[in-house]
Amino acid sequence: MALIVQKYGGTSVADPDRIHAVADNIAITKRRGNEVVVVVSAMGKATDNLIALANSVSSKQPGREMDMLLTTGERQTAALLTMALADRGVEAISLTGSQVGIITDTEHRKAKIIEVKGDRVRAALAEGKVCVVAGFQGVSTAKEITTMGRGASDLTASALAQAMDAESCEIYTDVTGVFTADPRIVPQARKLQKIHFDEMLEMAGAGSKVLALRSVEFARNHDVPLHVRSAFTWEPGTWVTNEEASMEDPIISGVVTDMTEAKVTVFGVPDRPGISAAMFEPLADANVNVDMIVQNTSTEGTTDISFTMPMADMAHAEEIVSRVAGEINATGVSHDNDIAKVSLVGAGMKSSPGIAAKMFRVLADESVNIHMISTSTIRVSVVCAAGDMERAARSLHTAFGLDSGADYSAPLPTRK
Ligand code: ASP
Ligand code: MG
Repeated sequence: MALIVQKYGGTSVADPDRIHAVADNIAITKRRGNEVVVVVSAMGKATDNLIALANSVSSKQPGREMDMLLTTGERQTAALLTMALADRGVEAISLTGSQVGIITDTEHRKAKIIEVKGDRVRAALAEGKVCVVAGFQGVSTAKEITTMGRGASDLTASALAQAMDAESCEIYTDVTGVFTADPRIVPQARKLQKIHFDEMLEMAGAGSKVLALRSVEFARNHDVPLHVRSAFTWEPGTWVTNEEASMEDPIISGVVTDMTEAKVTVFGVPDRPGISAAMFEPLADANVNVDMIVQNTSTEGTTDISFTMPMADMAHAEEIVSRVAGEINATGVSHDNDIAKVSLVGAGMKSSPGIAAKMFRVLADESVNIHMISTSTIRVSVVCAAGDMERAARSLHTAFGLDSGADYSAPLPTRK
């Protein structure tokens, strides 16, 4: 008998019809002889609606009260789904994060998991029941209800899968798996059958929205295989695992596009020790997630510093940057929302040189002007004009052999 954790995202449980479809799938999984732990998100846009409600009554929104509010979304789904299971003769019980013993730190709205007790899950499974757990939430060491950040139901699922030593963790969503590119931008994109955690992490970091970054981190660190799949077509999706790539695997796994960042440039920054710290420490303290940073070499004692950050944090960051720019005697600040980030991700890069060079050649041939570049061992990212993003992504997808299913292999290094 296998223990399977199934997580259903917001679109998968958005209305009563969807809840019926999901209940059918759980019933089938159970009747096949599996033990099933289900983790649910809030229905459709329920969390956004709760946040909008809070905005309309309060500008302060104390974290504790926001968590009391936001956790109701997942609780609603859990109770409704459990009722639908009862109609199907499937014995089930809904449980909150607190009831299953997901213990977190005390940081409201972005709490971190400290421990998963899971006693009530074990007890319910022993009685032959399906457990339906409200995702995204826990209880703090100070006994307060907490939430773990937007999209954190994925994290609940991987944490429970690890705590229960599940055979696998299925993440049901509205796409059929992880693709070589966003199919809305690159129509030739293909679904990947499998991908390594490290690549999935880089993709999430580069702006892919399929899985929440923290849940991938957690699953990788605890070696919980994830199966990302559709709750609409129910077809097999993409496995995310620790399995090492084989020789036959393509060097590049995907092209990731991201339009959610903005670029800030600070001009005429004095070139002396401590300036970068003075600029980026206050941004870090304000929780602004700075991504790429480029500093030019100085001419006549001053330099320009550019960096990217989420557009959503702009209003907040703008004040900080202007204030610091004044303090350090920089000559000016500009920002540009009209940018996009295009990244190539592939574990094969480690052993095959020349990927970045080929990428730049492809972009040059498409007349895409590169504003910034950053790399990791398995990723190369560039920032370009937003209007160039689609062309850049499509041409890279083709050039690296992702369109046809043909694998791109770098030319072998020539022996001297
Ligand atoms: N409902 C929460 C959100 O929208 C958590 C989740 O869906 O994973 O962020
Ligand atoms: Mg979600």
